Amino acid sequence: MKEPLIFDLSRQGRRGICFGTSDTPISPIEELIPGNLLRSEPADLPEIPESEVVRHFIRLSGLNYHVDKNMYPLGSCTMKYNPKINDAVSDLQGFTSMHPLQPAETAQGSLRLMYELSVMLSEIAGMAAVTLQPAAGAHGELTGILLIKKYHESNGSKRDKLLVVDSAHGTNPASAAIANYETISVASNAEGRTDIDDLKAKLTPDVAALMLTNPNTLGLFEKDILAIEKLVHENGSLLYMDGANMNALMGITRPGDMGFDIVHYNLHKTFSAPHGGGGPGSGPVGVCEKLVPFLPVPVIEKTDKDGHPYYSMNMDKPQSIGRMMNFYGNFSVLVRAYTYIRMLGAEGVRRVSENAILNANYLLSRLTDTFELPFPEPVMHEFCLSGDRQKKQHNVRTLDIAKRLLDYGFHAPTIYFPLIVSEALMIEPTETETIETLDAFADALLAIADEAANNPDLVYNAPTKTPVGRLDEAQASRKLNICYSGGC
Ligand SMILES: *Cc1c(COP(=O)(O)O)cnc(C)c1O
Repeated sequence: MKEPLIFDLSRQGRRGICFGTSDTPISPIEELIPGNLLRSEPADLPEIPESEVVRHFIRLSGLNYHVDKNMYPLGSCTMKYNPKINDAVSDLQGFTSMHPLQPAETAQGSLRLMYELSVMLSEIAGMAAVTLQPAAGAHGELTGILLIKKYHESNGSKRDKLLVVDSAHGTNPASAAIANYETISVASNAEGRTDIDDLKAKLTPDVAALMLTNPNTLGLFEKDILAIEKLVHENGSLLYMDGANMNALMGITRPGDMGFDIVHYNLHKTFSAPHGGGGPGSGPVGVCEKLVPFLPVPVIEKTDKDGHPYYSMNMDKPQSIGRMMNFYGNFSVLVRAYTYIRMLGAEGVRRVSENAILNANYLLSRLTDTFELPFPEPVMHEFCLSGDRQKKQHNVRTLDIAKRLLDYGFHAPTIYFPLIVSEALMIEPTETETIETLDAFADALLAIADEAANNPDLVYNAPTKTPVGRLDEAQASRKLNICYSGGC
């Protein structure tokens, strides 16, 4: 299927709208705009009737895959359905017409929303305070690591190493490197969890913190978290939680209660704000009491003014790491997350996690006879299969399976991550899918396993039903060409 650019659909003189003649005299344009700012040629804009504009964009939207179309089983990414009420609320004129430089006394509603969201997030993760500034999970990690740095500096402690478990998301070591830390990898054990002996060996006096994802990217809860917490704190190090996987924990248990000092959240995962395509996202960071003085400014505070609550932005925090973002973070994402939590309530938030775990285990139970499960046990919100059996027996790789899923109308799961599982297929169904959708997805994967055995060409050549066929992935990333062939 080929959809031309809107410029190619243009025909000179076609109009989407016709204005009647004005009954008010209008000055000539030359009198309104200084001559040197006037175009000498009309702007090169497409000329298209309204009906063609609408059809063009509807056709384009159909070429995309998105959460409104079908399940999006990307492990670790928590691509859940985004309730439309969140958009409706963030579109309210009272929010969209705000200017970030408006005086606080004229922005009380927006400040209150941010304050209350930070309180709710603190409660969900069991932290003392939360900053809403960071614009993504990775940005939250960087913020957290700068807080760690400032904390140790303020104690006169020189520590230049960060420990990261080998199943961690790639952003963990990347954020550590940006903050100028040396990253030391801690091994996973035969169960897929942090290897305590390896941790002990690497926990030297120059370690600033351990970054841990719990449940980890294999969907396994770190059962020894309290022992880990003790080791880390006895070493004078801090414990950082990559909280992108809060979808398994909410309302059930809290990072703060496990002894984590810092946690980042992904509002664009757990809290249903749309993501993909680069944002905007939001990666708030929660901290324990002793790190509160270092949080980024401005800090949104609630005080009392003439017997009424008053919300203000406090810049006067001498120990703060400073600003992580212009203004206050991605405000419209904050409105969506606030709406999401308020619509669910405390009970609903817990049910989200319970159902995410139930869905993951249901799907896993339908697939484990056919695909290998390297760490066989019940999981939390996601699980990681291996395509090793299909590769060894039929020379069909996980990449082929992922491509074939597209022909069945499903987005592929996360593949080849985490790095410690060979031919990894990492699946996270989320709580928003019905049993019928989960079954349809399982049926598709089982059918593909069958094709791999009996008609592997179907799988090698996939996808055949998508707008473009299989891309050369190496060329696509090495020689990126995003020019439209009709135009440039
Ligand atoms: C998504 C994710 C991140 C990074 O979040 P971004 O918003 O993409 O920067 C970090 N850790 C884990 C476990 C994640 O799933």
